Amino acid sequence: MNNQQFELSIGWLYPTLMSTYGDRGNVIVIERRTQWRGYGVKVVPLDQNSTADDIKSVDIIVGGGAQDRQQEIVMRDLQGAKADAMREKLDNGTPGVFTCGSPQLLGHYYEPGAGQRIEGLGILDLVSVHPGENTRRCIGNLVIEVTAAKLAQDLKEMLDGATPYLVGFENHGGRTKLGKVEALGKVVYGLGNNGEDGTEGAFYQNAIATYSHGPLLPKNPVVADWLIQTALRNKYDVPVSLTPLDDTLAMQGRSAMLKRLDVDVSKVQMAKV
Ligand code: GLN
Repeated sequence: MNNQQFELSIGWLYPTLMSTYGDRGNVIVIERRTQWRGYGVKVVPLDQNSTADDIKSVDIIVGGGAQDRQQEIVMRDLQGAKADAMREKLDNGTPGVFTCGSPQLLGHYYEPGAGQRIEGLGILDLVSVHPGENTRRCIGNLVIEVTAAKLAQDLKEMLDGATPYLVGFENHGGRTKLGKVEALGKVVYGLGNNGEDGTEGAFYQNAIATYSHGPLLPKNPVVADWLIQTALRNKYDVPVSLTPLDDTLAMQGRSAMLKRLDVDVSKVQMAKV
């Protein structure tokens, strides 16, 4: 496969409203790792100036975190044909990574600490409620083991059989309860969806929803490669085998964090990235 013939477009949801805690890093990592393999790539902002057709045109979707006020503005814009386009994309397996405020909007609703409930798109069967402004936020480093069946299996294969652990950082007031949607993983360190049931994030078709900022992908490059690989396979229906990249720095970052958190490093270090 001559890589130059192939191009991916990354749809970036509301870049100015939804990019807290460095979540734009997820976009940069996908863009660079695609370029480094010699594929074409472009970043398409999906915001108030975009149409439903813009949403339909992208191959990967990235959505970052947002404050409650910004989430409200976004949901006022993401209605009608645009909401339908998002639903169609995710239902049909467009890969994506959605962090914190974004999954709250993809669920049925988000109740902010103060003010009115914000209705979500209802694509993910989950609800999120902020228990009030005086409640402690869930803040800190986060380590999870991916348990979503298909993703866990794919990542394990990409990691030569190692268990897929993700390292990140969470900062949210909202507590998320899952309905029938599969959890992304189980919490090894941190609080995850709600600090109670041990679940973290959600996984639907090829959409990864997570409370993990960090941003997620620089610390967990295997997930970026999974998104790229899935997008190429979806778009071109060809076998894809991505050229390995030097992820030494990411691995060192992961090891340092796991040591600091006193997480069972021997187990986690089995992972290649
Ligand atoms: N506003 C949401 C909350 O506090 C999301 C915050 C975020 O995206 N970091 O739960």
